[in-house]
Amino acid sequence: MIRVNENYLKLQSSYLFSEISKRITAFRESHPEREIIKLGIGDVTCALPAACVAAFHAAATEMGDERTFRGYGPEQGYEFLREKIAVHDYKERGAEIEAGEIFISDGAKCDVGNIQELFAEDVIVAVPDPVYPVYVDTNVMAGRSGDWQDASYRGLVYLKSTEHNNYVPELPETKVDLIYLCFPNNPTGATISREKLREWVTYAQKNNALIIYDAAYEAFIKDETLPRSIFEIQGAKEVAVEIRSFSKTAGFTGTRCAYTVVPEACNVYTRSGTAVPLHTLWLRRQTTKFNGVSYPVQRAAEAVFSAEGKKQVKDLIDYYMHNAGLIRKRFSEMGFLCTGGDNSPYIWIQAKMASWDFFNLLLEKAGVVCTPGSGFGKCGEGYVRISAFNSHENVEKALHKISDVFR
Ligand code: PLP
Repeated sequence: MIRVNENYLKLQSSYLFSEISKRITAFRESHPEREIIKLGIGDVTCALPAACVAAFHAAATEMGDERTFRGYGPEQGYEFLREKIAVHDYKERGAEIEAGEIFISDGAKCDVGNIQELFAEDVIVAVPDPVYPVYVDTNVMAGRSGDWQDASYRGLVYLKSTEHNNYVPELPETKVDLIYLCFPNNPTGATISREKLREWVTYAQKNNALIIYDAAYEAFIKDETLPRSIFEIQGAKEVAVEIRSFSKTAGFTGTRCAYTVVPEACNVYTRSGTAVPLHTLWLRRQTTKFNGVSYPVQRAAEAVFSAEGKKQVKDLIDYYMHNAGLIRKRFSEMGFLCTGGDNSPYIWIQAKMASWDFFNLLLEKAGVVCTPGSGFGKCGEGYVRISAFNSHENVEKALHKISDVFR
C-alpha cells in the first residue's frame, strides 16, 4: 500500500482560472453572437523579438551540423548567457553579482516552486496576501502549513498588502524564516521603494531569515528611482535569492527561460547552528534533478542583451505599457481606485463590489474578462486584476465597452 503525501490533500483546487473558463464558456453558449476580450490572463500576446528569433534559428542550424552540434549542456546554464546576465542585469546597475551565482532554468515558476525544498519542514513561511499562488501551494505540498480554514492555510503568515500600506506589506510582528516578496507585484502591480526594501533586508539580517525575491516583472519598471533587483540593496546578498524570467520581459512564456541568483554569501543553518552555503545546496539540487535548458533557447535569451535585442525588448515593453497606462487612466476617470499599470503590466482595481460580481458585470455587460482579486487571497476580495497583455486594438475596444457600462 503506497501512502499518499497527505499534504497534497490539503491543497485547494485551483478554482480561480477553471471557474473563469467555466463562466466564459457558459457566456459564449448563451451569447454566441457576442465578442469576448480577455484582459484576465497573465500571458503575453506579441511575437518574440526578431533578434531572439534569429539567434534561435542560428542555434537550431548549429544543432543540425555534426561539427557544431551540442549534447547536454552545463546544468547551471551556458557561460555565455550567465555572463551577459551578470553584466547587463546586475553590474550595470551596481549590483555585484557574478556569473557563477546565476542558475539558468526553464521557468521562474519551477524555481520559485523548487527552492523551498532546501529548507527544513518547520521553517515559518510568510507570503504576501494577495499572492502568486505558487509560493503558497509548494509550501503546503512540503508540509509547512496546517489545514485550509477560513480562506487561508493555518501556520502560514500572510503579509497583508492593501491600499493602507500601498500594497507593500509591513514587517511581520512575529518572527518568520522564509519570506516571499514579489515586485512589481502580481497581482497588484505595486512596486517597492528602495527604503522599504532595505527595511525587509534589515529584518532578514536581524532574524536570520531568507527572502525569496520574485522579480519576474522587473523589466516593466520605468521609474529609475525604484530598485529592479534586491541586490541593489546593500547586504542583500547574505539574505536573499532573486528569481527572474524572460517570459514577460521578452515574450518567452512558450519558449521557457528564466534564472535564479543564489549569491555565494548566502547561508542557511543546521539545527546546531552550522552555516551551509545555499549556493552549494541549490547547485546540488539542480545537478541532481535538472539537465539544463536547451541550447537554442539559451542563445535566444542571450540575444535579449544584444543592441538590437535591447531595443526590441524595450519596444515590446513599451507596447504593453501603453495599454497599461490607458487602462489605468480610463478606470481612474470612471471613478475607480487603481494601482499598478505605471511600472507593471497589471492594474489592480477596487471594484466597489465583490470581486466575482464585478467579473460577472464586465463579462455580461461589456464582454470583457478580468481576474477576480479574491482568487489571489483574502485581501484580494473587492478587487479585480486587469492585464495589459493584449493588442492596442483589443484594449481600446474593451475600454470603450467598459466605459459604456459605467457611464
Ligand atoms: N512569478 C510571477 C510573479 C509570475 O506572475 C509568473 C508568471 O505569471 C511567474 C513567476 C512564472 O514565470 P515563468 O513563465 O518564468 O515560469
